[in-house]
Amino acid sequence: MELILAVVIALVVAVAVTSGLVISGRKKKQLPPAEPPSTTPTITAPPAEPHVGEEAETPREEPRRTVEEVELPTAEAPEAPAAVEEPLVEEPVAPEIEVPEPTAGRLVRLRARLARSQNSLGKGLLTLLSREHLDEDTWEEIEETLLTADVGVAPTQELVDRLRERVKVLGTRTPDELRGLLREELVALLGDFDRSVKTESPEDTPGVVMVVGVNGTGKTTTTGKLARVLVADGKSVVLGAADTFRAAAADQLQTWGERVGARTVRGPEGGDPASIAFDAVKEGIAENADVVLIDTAGRLHTKTGLMDELGKVKRVVEKHGPLDEILLVLDATTGQNGLIQARVFAEVVDITGIVLTKLDGTAKGGIVVAVQRELGVPVKLVGLGEGPDDLAPFEPGAFVDALIGD
Ligand code: GDP
Repeated sequence: MELILAVVIALVVAVAVTSGLVISGRKKKQLPPAEPPSTTPTITAPPAEPHVGEEAETPREEPRRTVEEVELPTAEAPEAPAAVEEPLVEEPVAPEIEVPEPTAGRLVRLRARLARSQNSLGKGLLTLLSREHLDEDTWEEIEETLLTADVGVAPTQELVDRLRERVKVLGTRTPDELRGLLREELVALLGDFDRSVKTESPEDTPGVVMVVGVNGTGKTTTTGKLARVLVADGKSVVLGAADTFRAAAADQLQTWGERVGARTVRGPEGGDPASIAFDAVKEGIAENADVVLIDTAGRLHTKTGLMDELGKVKRVVEKHGPLDEILLVLDATTGQNGLIQARVFAEVVDITGIVLTKLDGTAKGGIVVAVQRELGVPVKLVGLGEGPDDLAPFEPGAFVDALIGD
């Protein structure tokens, strides 16, 4: 009897202790974190819609802190989901600043992603060119392959003419010779441009980059990714959330900024984009930043409306000094539609570089050629996924190698 009583008492004590620990575990999580509080009062709001990369990062940090504080390794496992749900809004937490991946390593990923999605262009061309008899039908198929990949009519014709000529001169063709020849001609088709993003002002002020494009193309994401690229290159960045049309855009941009320690200047929803852009550059000058990136709204309601809006942003920003770069963001999956957008934007502002996003999700990489021809402006960056470091400098050689394999 005594023995049973003792066992019961022991059980009750154990249950009480366990639940007490679980509760204290929860309480502990609400304690301020070890990091010092933010010294940047304008950065307050957490992400409205976290990105893929963030979802993976938040839970990784939370349980680690709990383990250290509670010192009960076995009790934490069921706690992890609760940590994810608890919004960080409760505490003015200074987010841990990330160190973005250096830009140099990105080429490898670019190639892997393109190779996965673009077999139809490069490999298709190689297969066709390897046929024993290159008759008219085969040349037509080559043309079709290029047109299907959105290369555009004039560049396709040029390329086919060049290939016909060179294949004739070559006579018998080994696979290596064919690959080399196709590589050379495709690289030549992409042209010789200065593809560096101009982020340095000739004056003693921050470089100012304006990012334009139709909403949904990946403009805000690209601005955020570009901030990471610049930070990775050792530059300090101020972000201007001048897309006041899309409700979540400013939050989204601010989240990108917070992750790498860049301040975001924002205004009220529906506020005047030009005054936000102006304030962002002012802030950049005040804090001696290296670069100011301005995200804008891309409503293609009417050309006049767009022209008024973007034109005003540009004029107002230029009160501080000239813009160093105007990047047009285009969604590579939209084909001809993308080209129409490009034309409209080019009439409204002087585009100095193109960012092609979502190249990971299309077999129509030929749009790179078509859009450069359309605007006479180089593709400078390509988006290859939704991850924070999935933006890479565009390099024709690596691009073509990814298309045809090496
Ligand atoms: P905005 O309206 O132009 O500012 O568009 P957002 O920046 O909000 O992007 C729209 C969607 O496109 C988001 O879901 C992004 O994650 C996605 N996106 C942006 N760039 C890329 C890319 O390079 N590849 C893929 N697969 N998705 C992208």
